[in-house]
Amino acid sequence: MTPFRQNFIDGEWVGDAGSRNINPSDTGDVVGDYASAGAAQAGQAIAAAKAAFPAWSRSGPLARHAVLKKASDEILARKDEIGRNLAREEGKTLAEGIGETIRAAQIFDFFAGETLRLSGEVVPSVRPGVGVEITREAVGVVGIITPWNFPIAIPAWKIAPALAHGNTIVFKPAELVPESAWSIVDILHRAGLPKGVLNLVMGKGSVVGQAMLDSPDVNAITFTGSVGTGKRVAAASIEHMRKFQLEMGGKNPLVVLDDADLAVAVDCALNGAFFSTGQRCTASSRLIVTDGIHDRFVDALKDRMSKLVVGDALDAQTQIGPVVDATQLKQDEDYIAIGRAEGAELAFGGERLDRKTPGFYLQPALLTQATNTMRSSREEIFGPVASVIRVKDYDEALTVANDTPFGLTSGICTSSLKHATHFKRNSEAGMVMVNLPTAGVDFHVPFGGRKGSSYGPREQGRYAAEFYTTVKTAYTFAG
Ligand code: ADP
Repeated sequence: MTPFRQNFIDGEWVGDAGSRNINPSDTGDVVGDYASAGAAQAGQAIAAAKAAFPAWSRSGPLARHAVLKKASDEILARKDEIGRNLAREEGKTLAEGIGETIRAAQIFDFFAGETLRLSGEVVPSVRPGVGVEITREAVGVVGIITPWNFPIAIPAWKIAPALAHGNTIVFKPAELVPESAWSIVDILHRAGLPKGVLNLVMGKGSVVGQAMLDSPDVNAITFTGSVGTGKRVAAASIEHMRKFQLEMGGKNPLVVLDDADLAVAVDCALNGAFFSTGQRCTASSRLIVTDGIHDRFVDALKDRMSKLVVGDALDAQTQIGPVVDATQLKQDEDYIAIGRAEGAELAFGGERLDRKTPGFYLQPALLTQATNTMRSSREEIFGPVASVIRVKDYDEALTVANDTPFGLTSGICTSSLKHATHFKRNSEAGMVMVNLPTAGVDFHVPFGGRKGSSYGPREQGRYAAEFYTTVKTAYTFAG
């Protein structure tokens, strides 16, 4: 039976069915029906979070630890079921869906631990007899707006630190992936969160998201999504003088030098560019390859691409699932056409594929003879499409790698310690990989970028405290 999921406001499940969630591997398969909140419900959720804040922010480490640990345990215990639903609604493979679900459990576990490690500083004052305490306090009501490409990991890495640090939440997931969002809220609710602490408002970005941006009672907004929406979040947040944090696009370079281990380089490119159907903000979309290895690299990569199994996300053989929806599929195809019109050669793939069930299947595409000035090399495509840019040496590779409006991740494949070290120091990206794909990061260390990719403090790990808390400096004269 098709499940019907409601919004969760002030501890109650509310709302009538408003939107339908379709499986991109099989558009005849309905994942579920979901309530769609309006601006009024968003307002109720914000009011509930505001009312719940004083008690939750004073709840102390044990109460928060208990909820986060319980949630982690349940997510892990149900990883196959939750991961399967994730693969069904987003289109990444079952293995990727289960892997992402395990990651969500690990993130909740990490932040459960953080609740027991919250600390401040006591420092001597410059004035005799005075003591100074520096503490971190919760910010207040945090608005969480998430995209569709990591339906459970991104909500987890925003919700877990927000709760650990004593904030209350209004959570608006992306329209395409409500099931994973609903599961995480259902689990946290049953894990014992007091009413109003976490509110779920599924619905349109332009309605529910916008209502969050426009509310003076939302004290901080953490957003992951497109550059365009990120700018709206920024402008509205400045207007309300609230804290905000943005994670947006990428156009991540993977540099391959002549001295690279060819097999490692091809593995990195294949994984970084095409796994998760290329729908990762950390995907390697620019493969910057030096002359001496260029032809061997392209041939080997094409060979590996020809063996990729593209198909139904739930099929155990599948390595590349479908594109998330028809709009994204068209965008991918449009960019392939744009690249070709600008002079790149479509060396492999790019065609729609028919499978047993109707879905949004695309053969991963490789554009060669690309230059760094082409639109296909500058704008984020967000699909299984990568461009190879030929360069003469390391210096040119570094210049091209940094010549982008984005700065999320970068990578280099080389056996030279000198070049690897120089690249780590001089790459204008928030995360740098040596002999590893540009995508695929740990859950306990900072995540974020530079330039047009990110704004505000880093996410994840202990660095998350910077966004989810505000610092207080208290002076005491004890006589
Ligand atoms: P994508 O292209 O990846 O869907 P978006 O930036 O459109 O990226 O969406 C990311 C998130 O932002 C989604 O949850 C979406 O509903 C939300 N969103 C879209 N428009 C707005 C808006 N005007 N205000 C707030 N949130 C929005």
